[in-house]
Amino acid sequence: MAEEKLLDFAREITGRLGGETITNCYQCGTCASTCPVARTTERYNPRQILRLALLGQRDEILKGDAIWLCASCYNCQERCPQKVEIADVIYALRNIAIQEGNTPAIYTDFATALISEGRLAPISKFLEKKRAEYGLPAIKPTGLEALKKILAATGFDKIVFKKEGATK
Ligand code: SF4
Ligand code: SF4
Repeated sequence: MAEEKLLDFAREITGRLGGETITNCYQCGTCASTCPVARTTERYNPRQILRLALLGQRDEILKGDAIWLCASCYNCQERCPQKVEIADVIYALRNIAIQEGNTPAIYTDFATALISEGRLAPISKFLEKKRAEYGLPAIKPTGLEALKKILAATGFDKIVFKKEGATK
């Protein structure tokens, strides 16, 4: 039974875009030794994430904050001797977490700004003034209506707001 649970999560991940290679991992630790985030904080270790995922620790992975700390630099992926697409596996895990409503509040804030302004960060009057002073062109409008249609067609707007702030 416990073995089934373990295999279920591994199958779920390998069935996801980006997650296909996770079962190639033999836990050598090369990824962790080249990861700039792992060097900065003990809260993040890609080898450990893969291990927990392969052990079927679904809740620990999807409800925790570790998967959100990856900087997507792909250092690990370049060096993995088993050709595990580690950064892409992390994306696959994030996608599952988001679908289940485990979206960190900061991502919900970005999504809110994207849907309402068409940008992740608002453009302030100060910034506009500075751009003009430096001779830079005015920032163009974002084409918000077209963007909203795309976000609605992909279901982004509904998925990302399913449940706010499950992790910090
Ligand atoms: S480098 Fe590859 S095989 Fe080694 S622990 Fe990381 S993912 Fe697994
Ligand atoms: S892609 Fe993520 S896990 Fe891989 S080295 Fe960069 S920060 Fe670390």
